[in-house]
Amino acid sequence: MNEKRADCIFNGSEYCRLVRICSRCDVGKLDPELEKVLLDDIEHKLATFPQQTRDMAQGDLCRLCKGETREADCYAVVELARPESGSDMITSFAPALVPVCKKCRGRYSFSRNAGWIMASLFTLAMLIVLSVTAIREFFVGISPLTLPGLLAASAALGYLIGHLIGRIGRAGVNMHIMSLDELKAARAAGWEPVFASGKEPKVLFSYEALPDIAELLKKRIDTHQA
Ligand SMILES: [Zn+2]
Repeated sequence: MNEKRADCIFNGSEYCRLVRICSRCDVGKLDPELEKVLLDDIEHKLATFPQQTRDMAQGDLCRLCKGETREADCYAVVELARPESGSDMITSFAPALVPVCKKCRGRYSFSRNAGWIMASLFTLAMLIVLSVTAIREFFVGISPLTLPGLLAASAALGYLIGHLIGRIGRAGVNMHIMSLDELKAARAAGWEPVFASGKEPKVLFSYEALPDIAELLKKRIDTHQA
C-alpha cells in the first residue's frame, strides 16, 4: 500500500515523505504538458537566482570553517525571497543551501543562542536559591521588590555572560553567512533573506538537501521525450 512510484520526480523528497502514499498525492501525477508549464514557471522565477547560489549545495566542504576546512555534514538553509518585477503581490522564494560541518553547525547555533541559554540558566539558578524559605524571607524582609529585581538581574547577568562566551565560541567559524560570495551574488540580484534577526538571516540546519525541482523536472521531461 505504501509502495512509492520509482519514476516520480518527487520520490525521496521531504514532500514525498510527508505525503507517504502515492494515492494521496497529485503533484507526482501531472501530465507531461503540465510538467513543462510547471518547469517554465519555476525557471522563470529562478531566472534571476544566480547559478552559483544554486550550485552551492553541491559542495563537499564546509563554507563556514575559518582556517582548516572540514568536510560538510549538513546544510545551513537560508530562505531567500525576491519580489517579482512588475508585481507588488507576487514574491518568489528559493533556499540557498550552504554546506556546513558538524563543528561549525554547533558553534554557529551556540554562538547565536548563548545569551538566551545562559539567561535562562541563571534565572533558573536564582529561582532554586530563592526556593529556600529562609533566603526568600530575608530578601522579602528588605523589600517585596527585591525578588523580581534579583530575577531580572540574574537574567541580565546570564545574558551578558552568555553573549561573551558566544563571542569566544565564534573563533574558527564564519558567523556572517551573508558574506559568502554566493549569497552576496544572490543579494545583488535582488534576493534577500526572508527571516532575519538583526543583520544576520535566520538559519535552519538540514541533513537532507532539498531537491532542485527544476533539475528533476528537466530530467523527467527528457525521459518522456526519449
Ligand atoms: Zn566548518
